[in-house]
Amino acid sequence: MIQNLVGDSWRAPSSSDSLPVYDPARGVEIDRVLLSTPDDVDAAVAAAVAAYPGWSTTPVMERTRLMFRFKALLEEHVEDLAAEITLHHGKTLDEARGEVRRGIEVVDFACGAPTLLQGRTLRGVNREVDQDLYRFPVGVVAGIPPFNFPAMIPLWMFPLAVVCGNTFVMKPSERTPLSVIRLARLFLEAGFPPGVLNVVHGASTAAAALVAHRDVRAISFVGSEPVARAVYREAAAHGKRVQALGGAKNHIVVMPDADPDVAIPAILGSAFGNAGERCLAGSVVVPVGEAKSLTARLAAEAAAMPVGPGNRPETKVGPLIRDEHRGRVVEYIDRAVREGGRIVADGRAMLKQPGFFLGPTVIDGVAPGMAVGREEIFGPVLSVSSAQTLDAAIETANRMALGNMAVIFTTSGRSAREFRERIEAGMVGINVPVAQPFAFFPFSGWKGSFYGDLHVHGTDGVEFYTRKKVVVTHW
Ligand code: NAD
Repeated sequence: MIQNLVGDSWRAPSSSDSLPVYDPARGVEIDRVLLSTPDDVDAAVAAAVAAYPGWSTTPVMERTRLMFRFKALLEEHVEDLAAEITLHHGKTLDEARGEVRRGIEVVDFACGAPTLLQGRTLRGVNREVDQDLYRFPVGVVAGIPPFNFPAMIPLWMFPLAVVCGNTFVMKPSERTPLSVIRLARLFLEAGFPPGVLNVVHGASTAAAALVAHRDVRAISFVGSEPVARAVYREAAAHGKRVQALGGAKNHIVVMPDADPDVAIPAILGSAFGNAGERCLAGSVVVPVGEAKSLTARLAAEAAAMPVGPGNRPETKVGPLIRDEHRGRVVEYIDRAVREGGRIVADGRAMLKQPGFFLGPTVIDGVAPGMAVGREEIFGPVLSVSSAQTLDAAIETANRMALGNMAVIFTTSGRSAREFRERIEAGMVGINVPVAQPFAFFPFSGWKGSFYGDLHVHGTDGVEFYTRKKVVVTHW
């Protein structure tokens, strides 16, 4: 049974309302998650509040030592974490292993706490006056991650928060709740005291209770744009600090000088890896100049990508998370046809298979005003929207309300620089199809892809999870 972690006790949420957890590759229910009530949230927050005085005054070296142990345990458990991600999310085992590795990088970064948490001193700021800046934790922090990276995104949040001296309440995605349980068990095994990390399962009611809770001081949220916007607004109204990462509509520009043998496999991996359920998925490819041969190759190679269960070694595209979500993605494809798009690779043939599969789909002749040209789809659908010049391509991408990532394939330094300077996205790939920053840098969406000031991980994360105190001294 899926249980909450409150202090040192694993217990069932008090509600009898529940949702199914699926194996999306078979389309069968494998578990159920009970939806925590505001009272369950209160209990978890109370445990975090109770742990805070002891944890926030635990020496940094001791907190760091525990983080090193947690890192070692994660390294030992990469395979079982990955297998569980594949089981209840559906992505391929290789993608799941990659996800765990990228999550562990944040723990590596958090192990640098003795350096990261240092303050500053200015001796003699005035006659016989010195000034010192110290970093303090913020208090109880809550994390609300999305379904698509069940281990990595929670790892963006709690390791850095707790090494900074905060205590934490995590509400995992109700669609992929299993990975956080495994992470929390390893966290306790590493020796962290009870109450430093608490887990409440549930959906919007539990999340909203955390966002409004008077004892929660900061919110780390990752999810869709409308929810990110609402969480930002609500958390700010309650006087909390908040970082809310939203959705994406990522464009990939391909210049005429790009090497197609480099660009094409990279674009396919970006668009169809993780079945397109990635905030760094390429969604629209913008060939500059002649587009026919690129589109034809993309279509042929997309149609040939092996679709199947994530635990089969040959699989490149796993299932979608839920049947209803797949239905929404198919509706986007149908609507694209009504709006004048031309399907050149059609993944809808996969709909007859058991499991929530949809094959890679490529739509040519997409204009930025069409639904598939402007809205996040979050499925294995790639639109082609050609442009005559780099200027026009940049303009197409910059019309989007979301600005998570943008990519250019080119062999021209001049085009690459022009793109880097003018593109309105927080993460830019130059011949890199999934421009995910390493944990030492911030994950940095722009426009509707991010609400807040300080991004997740990197030194932004340290800033977010600490508050500063400045002491002016005269003896
Ligand atoms: P979602 O917005 O449906 O849910 C995200 C989380 O919010 C879940 O834990 C959910 O329970 C919770 N939630 C739902 N309603 C809420 C409410 N009213 N108040 C507070 N919390 C609420 O997103 P999803 O479908 O799980 O994830 C996919 C989305 O996440 C996509 O839009 C994707 O682009 C985005 N995403 C963004 C990033 C990024 O870094 N920008 C990373 C991964 C995913």
